[in-house]
Amino acid sequence: IVQYINVHKSFGDTHVLKGIDLDINPGEKIAIIGPSGSGKTTIIRLLMTLEEPTDGDIYVAGKNLWKIEKNGKKLPANEKHLASVRKDIGMVFQHFNLFPHKTILDNCAMPLIKVKKMKKNEARDMAKQMLDRVGLGDKYDAYPSNLSGGQKQRVAMARALVMRPKIMLFDEVTSALDPELVGEVLEVIRDLAENASMAMVLVTHEMDFALEIADRVLFLDEGVIAESGTADEVINKSDNPRLQNFLKRFR
Ligand code: ATP
Repeated sequence: IVQYINVHKSFGDTHVLKGIDLDINPGEKIAIIGPSGSGKTTIIRLLMTLEEPTDGDIYVAGKNLWKIEKNGKKLPANEKHLASVRKDIGMVFQHFNLFPHKTILDNCAMPLIKVKKMKKNEARDMAKQMLDRVGLGDKYDAYPSNLSGGQKQRVAMARALVMRPKIMLFDEVTSALDPELVGEVLEVIRDLAENASMAMVLVTHEMDFALEIADRVLFLDEGVIAESGTADEVINKSDNPRLQNFLKRFR
């Protein structure tokens, strides 16, 4: 469903991603781990089209994200092209990015109305279903400021899920939460990992959680995928000294 081919990303003189090759299968659950600054967030921001690669190609569902391929030529993507590829991708951020002046129901219904041009009533019905799914069926009319961090993060997930993405991206979604709120958010992700057919990519520092839900774990180190394998192979059995050193912090 996703393919990175020799993807590089630099910010000015900082060469952050140094040749990423990665295939993600439909429905596959991937966890990305690695030290701060290794490029984890950049990998998924590229997929969400929030950043453009300096070099290389990224395909989603067969379409080149950043280029319009026609008659063997590659032209730069325009807004229409980007909007069409983005439809398949949902993202949840560390900070929730909800609209403060809208109820949580309207926060979730809005993308359906704006992007999918759905009628307001229909959009609200779908948004309600998703809010029920993340355990917020009693909060439709609340405003973000009246919710806990864990609840806000669950709204952010519902808002991404209403679009029925083929891939969901989670960028350290629990790291801004108070420890006692982490569990409820992981519980929603666990439910999705077990029951939803979409591919998922999680950047996480929750090693036990990665072990539990990921089909594959990638260890990113200084802009390259230094290890890739099942969660057990990477987290429990690898003898890569830099990975060992990184994992020490979590033991
Ligand atoms: P963390 O675990 O701390 O979030 P990360 O592995 O997700 O780290 P990235 O956020 O991908 O790392 O950042 C990788 C490097 O790229 C960092 O050195 C960062 O400073 C740099 N970087 C990221 N975004 C930008 C930007 N927009 N402009 C300049 N430098 C950037």
